Amino acid sequence: MSSYPQRFVVFHGQDCLVPPQLAEALRPSADGTLAQVVAPEVISWPASMFPLELFAGAAQGYSYSTFPFLNISYGAVLLSDDGGRFIKAAGLEHAAHLPVRGLASDFSSHLGRFVLLAKAHAHWAEVSRFCGACGAPLVDANGNADVREPLDEHAHGARFCPRCRRVFFPRMSPAVIVMVRRGDSILLEHNVRFPGNRHSLVAGFVEMGETLEEAAAREIREEAGIEVKNLRYLRSQPWPFPDSLMLGFIAEWASGEAHPDGVEIDHVGWYTAEALPELPMKGSIARSIIDAFAAGRFSDSQPS
Ligand SMILES: [Zn+2]
Repeated sequence: MSSYPQRFVVFHGQDCLVPPQLAEALRPSADGTLAQVVAPEVISWPASMFPLELFAGAAQGYSYSTFPFLNISYGAVLLSDDGGRFIKAAGLEHAAHLPVRGLASDFSSHLGRFVLLAKAHAHWAEVSRFCGACGAPLVDANGNADVREPLDEHAHGARFCPRCRRVFFPRMSPAVIVMVRRGDSILLEHNVRFPGNRHSLVAGFVEMGETLEEAAAREIREEAGIEVKNLRYLRSQPWPFPDSLMLGFIAEWASGEAHPDGVEIDHVGWYTAEALPELPMKGSIARSIIDAFAAGRFSDSQPS
């Protein structure tokens, strides 16, 4: 039996539930950020505030994954649409809602890191309840004497199948996102799922057997019908909606006329920094790369 973590973080949909008595702390500061007024200590809940039987395991329908943050052990729980029973049993009806996606813009802060890490663990707990090979209920791998391979002590969230003895590590889904430049313009596209006129960079999941470079070239070819050159890595961002690791690149147009695939993408275009369309939310890696372009941060390496 693993012991319960000392504190819990509870998610419902895309929000983090915050104890009612601490909702006051959620008021935005003068500059509009929540991060400066909310610390991990006030968005996590002492275990004593929960009926512990809610965490007894899969039979209850709720699972949690444990992770350390600043030397404290936390458990993260994700409530799906049927979370009403949990909310009522735990007395969470009047909890305040901290928008998780909004905190992505402050991933460098302790709070942003904490909430996104907790969100990733909460999702993993929800989808790692049973063995994908034999169907048996999984248990925590850490500290389990039956696990043959010694686990890295940092393999938090690893799950173990007592029946077929497989170990499952937390899953991340790598996705490439690429800013393609042509002269002083960049390629932006409108996905059919985007609201309004929002445009973003070419992006897509890496397929099995692909290098990141191959995935980037394929996505650009598929979605916009062009070829690129001089692809180079910029930076990455964990994006736990639900389990992506975004890998950002920049590339230069090489050949072809851009046109949308007509299925996933219904519009593509070349945009200068002075005439950008509606952009993705601040905090996303797409937005930060586009903002850097608009601020002229890539101008030194642009072809004249
Ligand atoms: Zn199994």
